Amino acid sequence: MTPRQTRTRRLAMPLARDVVRDLAVTNGGCIRPVQLRRTDLDTGQVEQVLVPCGHTLATVCPSCAKRAKALRAAQCREGWHLETEPVIVPDDPDDVQLMWVEHRAETQQHRDQAEAAGQDTSELDELAGELDEEITRSGVRGNVLPGRPERRHRSTRRRQDTPDLPRRAVAPRTIGKTYTAPDGRTFRPSMFITLTCDSYGKVTADGTPAHPDAYDYQRAARDALHFAALFDRLVQNLRRFLGYDVQYFAAIEPQKRLAPHIHLAMRGTLSRTELRQVIAATYHQVWWPPADKVKHGGGDLPVWHEASGGYLDPATGEFLPTWDDSLDAIGPDDEPLHVARFGPKFDAQGVLGDSKDSARCIGYLTKYLTKNVADCHQATTSAGQDHAERLADALRYEPCSPTCANWLRYGVQPKNAREGLRPGRCTGKAHRREYLGYAGRRVLVSRKWSGKTLADHRADRKAWLLETLGIADTDPARFMWEPVTPGDPDHMPPAQRLLHVVADRQKWHAALTNARARASGQSTPHLSATGRAA
Ligand SMILES: [Zn+2]
Ligand SMILES: [Zn+2]
Repeated sequence: MTPRQTRTRRLAMPLARDVVRDLAVTNGGCIRPVQLRRTDLDTGQVEQVLVPCGHTLATVCPSCAKRAKALRAAQCREGWHLETEPVIVPDDPDDVQLMWVEHRAETQQHRDQAEAAGQDTSELDELAGELDEEITRSGVRGNVLPGRPERRHRSTRRRQDTPDLPRRAVAPRTIGKTYTAPDGRTFRPSMFITLTCDSYGKVTADGTPAHPDAYDYQRAARDALHFAALFDRLVQNLRRFLGYDVQYFAAIEPQKRLAPHIHLAMRGTLSRTELRQVIAATYHQVWWPPADKVKHGGGDLPVWHEASGGYLDPATGEFLPTWDDSLDAIGPDDEPLHVARFGPKFDAQGVLGDSKDSARCIGYLTKYLTKNVADCHQATTSAGQDHAERLADALRYEPCSPTCANWLRYGVQPKNAREGLRPGRCTGKAHRREYLGYAGRRVLVSRKWSGKTLADHRADRKAWLLETLGIADTDPARFMWEPVTPGDPDHMPPAQRLLHVVADRQKWHAALTNARARASGQSTPHLSATGRAA
């Protein structure tokens, strides 16, 4: 008979489902696999296949996040020191035109995605306009997108304190130059660059402000909100300055002081002096209505008027100016709402392919990819928590886009105004704590980096695995795939799936170990790998 156990003792025993979960993670298995039913159309055989969830956050699925990170590292490694152009580009003037049209297409896609997500598209519209000019300049007739509405006239005057950059014609080349050492060896160095935001006030070693009251939280919030646009500007300036189609793999993450910074692997090099010059000349002006004076802060919020579909001033009963009216009201002598620029501090080093430095830098670039922005530096002290709190407060009321509900606070109707908007309650991602004002993509990769998409890199890995295991790839046309839903008789509950994942992974591991041993000439009993691992 089992002796009676105390409650404490029982609680100290591992829980069966935790053990299975941990085992799945230890074996690199997905803990939230998706169940698919695979029917072999030749034989009629039906098989249950567990497909990894593919999440990139370790808090959601550690194994999938780890795999996603490894894939990014592979992508970064492959593109950084390319010796040849990733796509065949014959030396023909038409390729310059092609390059601009390709950039234009990419910009259009980013813009349309941003619009679909309810984000601000003004920066991307502006970029599209500039690319249209480049396309025309390169000798293409007509427009890539006929009937595009006239762009709103904006002030394009340069800021007094911004030095002009020399502009070179951009050649459609993407790989860096080679250098020859006195002993005849040639090098093709690339760069690893880290750029930060400007200072918002002195910070101590733990990243918290030395004088919280003097720390400029508003500027910190605005820089974070417009960081992605600023980076776009930098790339554009680098291409113009260096005269070739500079390619990059960049990762954006917060510093300890919670301001975003960017690690950048770039193909080709420039000197520190040149980089300093490009950084100094790079800025992004935000031409939005003024948002420095709170007009409706407390209970006197603007009121929705259903009949006209607009917001009224509760005191006067008059309509608030619309978004377009407010933009029209920005005069030639007005200042932009915000000018985002990088701080003067940067880090830059030349890196050679396949070197120790290169591996270390790829480590930096992918270090935080499995974490949410806000989880990269968890506040452990009360000063740290206060700092995060103050930044979140500043971000709460800062307009994140033209459609942001916060515009009502500053007496302006947001673009596409609708009922129920409340300042401080905008649903834009950038306001949420976990994003620290930066809601864009964490990894930014230029199109001709490795010449491959993430899916191509994934396929490379699969091909390698199949080859190592000596398994022939199956013909995709032979199978029919269907999702299995909870009502289906063959549906597996999560706990059952997890057991399958563990079993599958163990089979794969054994098969892989076996294959490696075979490759190195040792003989081991043959194990077949029939399971498909999630
Ligand atoms: Zn997963
Ligand atoms: Zn917002």
